[in-house]
Amino acid sequence: MQLKQTLAAMAFGLTAVSALAQTVVGVSWSNFQEERWKTDEAAIKAQLEKLGAKYISADAGGSPEKQLGDIEGLMSKGAKALIVLAMDKDAILPAVTKATRQKVPVVAYDRLIEAPGVFYITFDNVEVGRMEAREVLKVKPKGNYVIIKGSPSDPNADFLRAGQQEVLDASIKKGDIKIVGDEYTEGWKPEVAQKNMEQILTKNANKVDAVVAANDGTAGGAVAALTAKGLRGVPVSGQDADFAALNRIALGTQTATIFKDSRELGREAASAAIALSQGKPVEKAAQWNSGPKKVALSSRLLTPVPVTRDNLDVVVKAGWIKKDELCKGVP
Ligand code: BGC
Repeated sequence: MQLKQTLAAMAFGLTAVSALAQTVVGVSWSNFQEERWKTDEAAIKAQLEKLGAKYISADAGGSPEKQLGDIEGLMSKGAKALIVLAMDKDAILPAVTKATRQKVPVVAYDRLIEAPGVFYITFDNVEVGRMEAREVLKVKPKGNYVIIKGSPSDPNADFLRAGQQEVLDASIKKGDIKIVGDEYTEGWKPEVAQKNMEQILTKNANKVDAVVAANDGTAGGAVAALTAKGLRGVPVSGQDADFAALNRIALGTQTATIFKDSRELGREAASAAIALSQGKPVEKAAQWNSGPKKVALSSRLLTPVPVTRDNLDVVVKAGWIKKDELCKGVP
C-alpha cells in the first residue's frame, strides 16, 4: 500500500515537473554588450532552472527594429511568458500588445514599458538619480556641473534626471551650482558620452567641476574625456557597480556608483514570469502609475544602494565582487 502511494506521488511529481519543464520563458535583451546584463541573465537563468522552466533569449544589439523581430521569434519558439528589456519605449509597443493579446504575460524588465497588462519590475530609478547627484554634491557643493544623461529612448534616463534635479535644485537656485552641459547619450553608448563630454569641455574652456553621469558606462566615457584634458579626479557619478567603475572608485577617478543588485532583480523577474504564466499573482506587487502616460501597472520597485570609496566593502560583503578583483589596477 505504502509503495503504491509512493509510486503515485512520484508519478504526480514527475507530471508536475514535466508540465513546468515545458514552460518556456523568452528574454529579449536590448543591448547585451553592457556589462551589467550578463549578471542579470545569470540570475534569470538560475531562477528559471530552479523553477523547472526553460530560458531562451535574443539580443537586439541596440536596434529597436531587431527587438520587434526578436519578440516575434521568441513567441514562435513557444515562449509562454516574456521578459523584455526594451531598447525603445515606443517602438516596443506593437510587439508587447501582440503578446498580451495572445495572453503571453510580459514582464517589463528594468525599463518601463507603458502598456496595459505589463508587469513592471525595476529599481527605484528616481531614487538612483537622487543618490547620484547627492554623492557628487557632497564632495563638490559649488561649481560648474555637467549632466550626462542616459538614452532618450529609455524612460529611466528621465527618471534619473528628475531625481538628480530634486537634489541639485536648491544649489542651482542659490547660484552655487551652474549646469554647463546637459546631454542625452544615444543608446547609452560610452563613446557617445565621451564625445559629448569632450564637446562640453571645449565649450567651457575645460572649466568643469563635477559630472553627474547616468550610469557606469557613460561615467567611463566622461572619465576618459576628463583624463585626456588632465582633469583626472573631477567628481563623477554612475550606477550599476560595474567592475570597471568599482575599480575607478578605488583609484579615485569616479566618486560613486549605485549598487542595484541585479541578481535580485533577475531572480524576482523570473519568478514573476512563471507566476504570471500560471495565472497566479506576483508576490509583493504594488500598483504604480508614475510613468509619462500614467498607465496603471502592477509593479515591484527594488531598493538601490550608493557606493563610494568609504563603503566599497558593501559590494564585497554582498558577494558581488571579490576583494582581489576590486583592487585590480590599484597601484
Ligand atoms: C539601466 C541601467 C543601465 C542602462 C544601460 C538602464 O535602463 O537601468 O542600469 O546601465 O540602462 O544599459
